[in-house]
Amino acid sequence: MNKVSILGIEFDNYSLEEFKDRLINRLNNKVSTMVVTANPEIVMAANKDPKFMELIKKDADLVTADGIGIVLGGKMLKTPIKERVTGYDLFTWLLHVGNLRKLRVYLIGATPAVMKITKAKIAKDYPGIELVGAEDGYFKDDLKTVAKRIENTEPDLVFAAIGFPRQEELISLLRQAEVPAIMMGVGGSFDVFSG
Ligand code: UDP
Repeated sequence: MNKVSILGIEFDNYSLEEFKDRLINRLNNKVSTMVVTANPEIVMAANKDPKFMELIKKDADLVTADGIGIVLGGKMLKTPIKERVTGYDLFTWLLHVGNLRKLRVYLIGATPAVMKITKAKIAKDYPGIELVGAEDGYFKDDLKTVAKRIENTEPDLVFAAIGFPRQEELISLLRQAEVPAIMMGVGGSFDVFSG
């Protein structure tokens, strides 16, 4: 049993290296995958919002513990979690993989200024990546329209940084459409990445 339940969230109890193995497998087999890097804010929000909780339970394929507080919680409950695995770690590692494998990447989120820097940094540091979409997170379209737009670009990797629970809602639409990509909400990662 590789699940640890904390406050209703079922965490996959893998190390970073084990998560990476699973993601590579899914990438190789083109398995539609929604990753949730659940930080304490997300865990609390899901506990207050049954719909958000349900969405994570139903649609997330892999759930990581994105916070030392969650790892400590697991220890206290005598259901230890192997280690903290952050959204930012997976984001930068997947960019690295995308660069090596020349993957199609769709980015959505953050302000236009942050997105511009993010785009430029990816072009410079990860030239193998084919950016099939790079839009800011202040769009007017509804999430269904946005999901369709993303799906049409046939991405291998999708990163959404539009804040929770909306980023998870967007990715769950893509997941329900069985888009064969690794897809994750990455919160403030573009802000950090663009430095
Ligand atoms: N964001 C966005 N559209 C929005 C709201 C937020 O693109 O309508 C971006 C914001 O610019 C930031 C990221 O989402 O890059 C995370 O925002 P925030 O820190 O507010 O979200 P949280 O930490 O709550 O996920």
